[in-house]
Amino acid sequence: MRTLIKDVRVFDGERAIPRADVLIEDDRIAEWDGGRADAEIDGSGGTLLPGLLDAHTHVSDGMLAQALTFGVTTELDMFCLPSNLARQRRLAADRDDVADLRSSGVLATAPGGHPSQIMAAEAAGLSHLGDAVGPFDTIADAGEAAAFVEARLAEGADYLKIVIDDGSTAGLDLPVLSPGVVAALVEAGHAAGLMAVAHIATAREAAIALDAGVDALAHVFHDLGPEDPSVAELAARIVRQGVFVVSTLSYIEVINGGEGAAEVFEDERIASRLPEGSAGTARRDPGAVPVHPRGLANALGAARALHAAGAAVVAGTDANFLAPPHGVSMHRELALLTEAGLTCEEALAAATAVPARLFALHDRGRIAPGLRADLLLVDGDPTRDITATRALREVWRRGVRQSRA
Ligand SMILES: [Zn+2]
Repeated sequence: MRTLIKDVRVFDGERAIPRADVLIEDDRIAEWDGGRADAEIDGSGGTLLPGLLDAHTHVSDGMLAQALTFGVTTELDMFCLPSNLARQRRLAADRDDVADLRSSGVLATAPGGHPSQIMAAEAAGLSHLGDAVGPFDTIADAGEAAAFVEARLAEGADYLKIVIDDGSTAGLDLPVLSPGVVAALVEAGHAAGLMAVAHIATAREAAIALDAGVDALAHVFHDLGPEDPSVAELAARIVRQGVFVVSTLSYIEVINGGEGAAEVFEDERIASRLPEGSAGTARRDPGAVPVHPRGLANALGAARALHAAGAAVVAGTDANFLAPPHGVSMHRELALLTEAGLTCEEALAAATAVPARLFALHDRGRIAPGLRADLLLVDGDPTRDITATRALREVWRRGVRQSRA
């Protein structure tokens, strides 16, 4: 099957090309050779983009399908219980109407540490989520690090996720891994060939992660005001160590009750694609999770400082089974990244070529011959108006054109 997309503006993952013809040949992007095509799509007035990667999610039933509906073609899950993960992986491998998936499997946290309080407190009212919630392995001392990593490898982990969060931004006092255990986990992960990704909330926790030699932070730190001189110092250190940072601005907005979180749902381009009854997921009970009144302003300041310093800031939403919602929130995240000082093209790269490179997903994230045909065709020009990503005309996953809702 050869599908030609004609006369289309292209954002190839790194830069904009004003006009091109792009060929989809089966599941791949191919060089247009001027030959016969089985189907032609007029791309005029639109922009063709690589499928979006969300670099921080938590999957459960139905969510990979929802992600794809909104143009997220790959989710990088950052904590998933084993039986749920096995099912989601099968789905992603077997079907073309869901987003693809990579995962850390079970994250490393202290007994009773974050996010045990969420898994325990909410599991009661969320029995419909089945095996997406419940108890999970934890780690108490450095001597268990190698065995912990072995167990994750057995789950098929693609990277190691480590939680360093004492709950202080939420006024909680949770058990937390000691710096020694964190360092032992990073070492064991690296020995097993796994990248180490740290969940942190504060600058102090980020420093512990950096001391341990992590490869990435799964959130921006959001305890310091934008004017605090420590923000720039920490950003500079993150750059020196070559660590990248997943933004999760839309998560920090939602858990702090940010008014902007509803904006994306009120956008008709999103609302018209939403499944019946799902609009309520714009909000969640902030009592159940860490809250910081200045969280979003601080997070935007940290993201701005990181980007200005030259750090790779990667788009991730922390979409989960409550809020922010899968797929939808990526469009909010892109807008927030531009509020943090990224240009539209930089924000788009942060959701395409950059995460693909950093997570070594070399078959996607760009529009180039030979790569997977994970593609979006949108109306307008998101390299000038970032919200144009919401005007989805077509979505292809592995070359399969998705039927319209
Ligand atoms: Zn998360």
